[in-house]
Amino acid sequence: MRVLDVRCRTVTVTRFLDPGVAPCELTTAVVALATDAIRDGQQVVGYGFSSFGRVGGAAADAGDLSRRLLQAHDEDLSDPEGSGLSPLRAREFVLRHRLPEALPPPAAVLGTLDMALWDAASKIAGLPLFRFLGARLGQSPRSTVPVYASGGYRYPRDDHARLAEEVRRFLDAGHTHVKIKIGDCPLAEDLERVETVLALLPRPDRLAVDGMNRYAEGRVAAVAKALEPYGLRWIEDVCDPSDMESLSRLAAASVTPLGAGEAIRSLDDARTVLRQGGLRPDRDVLLIDPVHCGGLPEYLAIVAAAEDLGWPRRAFFPHGGHLFSLHVAAALGLGGCESNPASFQPFGGLAEGAGLRKGMAAPPEAPGIGFETKPTLVALFESVRRGGPFPCPST
Ligand code: MG
Repeated sequence: MRVLDVRCRTVTVTRFLDPGVAPCELTTAVVALATDAIRDGQQVVGYGFSSFGRVGGAAADAGDLSRRLLQAHDEDLSDPEGSGLSPLRAREFVLRHRLPEALPPPAAVLGTLDMALWDAASKIAGLPLFRFLGARLGQSPRSTVPVYASGGYRYPRDDHARLAEEVRRFLDAGHTHVKIKIGDCPLAEDLERVETVLALLPRPDRLAVDGMNRYAEGRVAAVAKALEPYGLRWIEDVCDPSDMESLSRLAAASVTPLGAGEAIRSLDDARTVLRQGGLRPDRDVLLIDPVHCGGLPEYLAIVAAAEDLGWPRRAFFPHGGHLFSLHVAAALGLGGCESNPASFQPFGGLAEGAGLRKGMAAPPEAPGIGFETKPTLVALFESVRRGGPFPCPST
């Protein structure tokens, strides 16, 4: 088992389905790992990307880290049976072979490479990632996962009409639960946005709101109090994610469930939030991103640590809104998963044509993560794979 070529690129993404609505200000880093494995007459290539956020500058770092795999020999990368790729061995190899003076790679950089390794390994095994991972963990994966449609960013013009149109599109596609953003406008306006969406839903607990960490310490309680009468599904990321004092005060007072954990970048971060954030395992939800926390091994360690502290798996809803998170939720039997049907295209959302029944989605059965079920995404990935020599220029 060898990695023969590594390519990477930074790609801009937009929050809106129509990229003309607002300029793209977010980026994601894409990594393509070409292996020496051949399946169905094709070279196996593993693809990964750094989920969503201001992490696109990670592309060069992700490429640099991944390129170390080019020096790895068969025994460094092969699984113990010698028949496939071991993502864990490959990860250990790149971490062991960093320059001695180098700082540890940022979690999102490691997570980007990690996604590509799991994509390649499960393609080589001929299994969809959720079945490959379930087999490795010795547990039966779920074939469908409760998903919620995430979006509802504030439109620069005609916000209410376009917000309603976006949510209607989610519902028409088979979604039953929705999450929208708040915090980008005065609270009174946000409450009107909440009411606009609630008018389209059968019950208020079908709607969650995400404050995007926009509220200063002194406003957190007032925002939560204003939202409380609606009976929403959860209120997410209200305060600064490192402000454990505000979070624990909020958790002590909020009747509405809270969502937290998106900014967790390591097992240590997770322990801090779980021990000091005052969150309640019987009602709150953990929205940790399996890429941004450093990849699947770190995510599994976080789930195990949370279980030790009394958290049920149903409390986990991995952030990201893409196929990788869907596979992780199915393999681990988590509470559900975010999906970005409109934002961050072509990375976000489910497989093209994927059946969505009553809010339940099935991960693709294609080997790997199943990016190949999304034609626009795979065309983008293939352009990265065919791109110029490392490091590729940013797009
Ligand atoms: Mg969030």
